[in-house]
Amino acid sequence: MAIHATVKSRISAEPEAKVDDWSRVLKRLRAELGETAFRSWFQEIRLERIEDGEGVVSLPTRFLRNWVATHYADKLIAAWRAENPAVRRVTIIVALHAAPPARQGSAAPAAPVPAAPIPIAEIGDDRAQLSAPLDPRFTFANFVVGKPNELANAAARRVAETFSAPLHSVPFNPLFLYGGVGLGKTHLMHAIAWYVRTHAPQRKVIYLSAEKFMYQFIRALRYRSTMDFKEQFRSVDLLMIDDVQFISGKDSTQEEFFHTFNALVDQNRQIVISADKSPSDLAGLEERMRSRLGWGLVADLHPTTYELRLGILHAKAEASGVKVPDKVLEFLAHKISSNVRELEGALNRIIAHTQLVGRVITLESAHELLHDLLRAHERHVTIDEIQKKVAEHFNIKMAEMTSARRARIVARPRQVAMYLAKQLTPRSLPEIGRKFGGRDHTTVMHACKKIEELTVADRALGEDVELLRRMLLS
Ligand code: ADP
Ligand code: MG
Repeated sequence: MAIHATVKSRISAEPEAKVDDWSRVLKRLRAELGETAFRSWFQEIRLERIEDGEGVVSLPTRFLRNWVATHYADKLIAAWRAENPAVRRVTIIVALHAAPPARQGSAAPAAPVPAAPIPIAEIGDDRAQLSAPLDPRFTFANFVVGKPNELANAAARRVAETFSAPLHSVPFNPLFLYGGVGLGKTHLMHAIAWYVRTHAPQRKVIYLSAEKFMYQFIRALRYRSTMDFKEQFRSVDLLMIDDVQFISGKDSTQEEFFHTFNALVDQNRQIVISADKSPSDLAGLEERMRSRLGWGLVADLHPTTYELRLGILHAKAEASGVKVPDKVLEFLAHKISSNVRELEGALNRIIAHTQLVGRVITLESAHELLHDLLRAHERHVTIDEIQKKVAEHFNIKMAEMTSARRARIVARPRQVAMYLAKQLTPRSLPEIGRKFGGRDHTTVMHACKKIEELTVADRALGEDVELLRRMLLS
């Protein structure tokens, strides 16, 4: 069987480390991370050497090195191992590379920058730690709370606190967190784990991705140690499994997961689960599993609002210690609305840039620096589409967009549409004015100002505008 074949190949002599595997490693990473993330972080990575099972790569700045080491270590190792199992350890050093030949300007010679190399990880043996490492930045203190995530945050805190109390109880079991990509599910789970680790270190906490859970389980099958596997899980006090949508469909793992889950719940142990959908919407999940997952508290993370994005950016910029002008942060919060991870990616690029050039960034250079990211976010929206959607949303006739009527009930939606036209299309104020029944550009300007103020002062309107924006861009 396939399982035996794999075992055999593990036992046979290890293949030689080969340098030309490197381009394939990069290809894998690119495919896995997507073009944008790949270009932000791996564009400038260079292979230095492979020696005695240690792969050494370099990046040109300390910032990039640290970033890749904390965020992509596991992915880098996994991709490398997939191409070349002889690589057991990976170390990233900081070294300036010669400028690419296509670029103009003086080419800096390759010179190592004195910065201690950090081994990012060791490939452990088969008894590797069951729990995945926790990201030190994912704490409650670093989680910015806003309307879209306040329920999930409160629930996570409640679990962490009650669970860490001397006479611990299990407030809701399981806590099921769900929401789209990059909205903070993993962050909250790590935050719970950190909290418990500091307040009740004697409690055994396991955090792992559903993929890792499956991997562990399949490996246990392969080495016929399913008993150990079960024991390990059944002795935990708090089990957190991230991204369970990946468990769906895999029958035997689902079965095992279900048994583990039930055993823990019966013993009054706390479970926290995350997924990208609510239990009832998870496809490929057995019915009994689905209903069991929904027993406790189901808390969702909503898409971010402008306010929350700005709050997050402020907090992260401050934590980085690098000065980023408010205008630039506002620009980012406006332009990148999909998920917080991308927002962070953009901010980190700006921070890296600031550190490299040693100058506070301007709005113009932020534009330039992020143009690829921003382009991906700019769908072509037409003024007609905007007028139509806005009219629909506020339940007025499309004709009111161009009419001369000034009653607030139609004037306000019209202003919203003008504001969105300014925001989402490259059209100038006079062009927009013309599209709204030949209005003057000062009228459009006034509308934009007015709506900008109102989105701050009037929460409901702010949400309407945000919703419309998102609908138009998706
Ligand atoms: P998910 O697991 O939901 O896909 P993550 O928890 O990995 O998302 O979050 C993606 C990134 O965004 C992380 O770096 C996380 O720290 C950050 N993030 C998300 N929400 C917040 C928030 N409310 N405050 C601070 N950082 C956040
Ligand atoms: Mg996650």
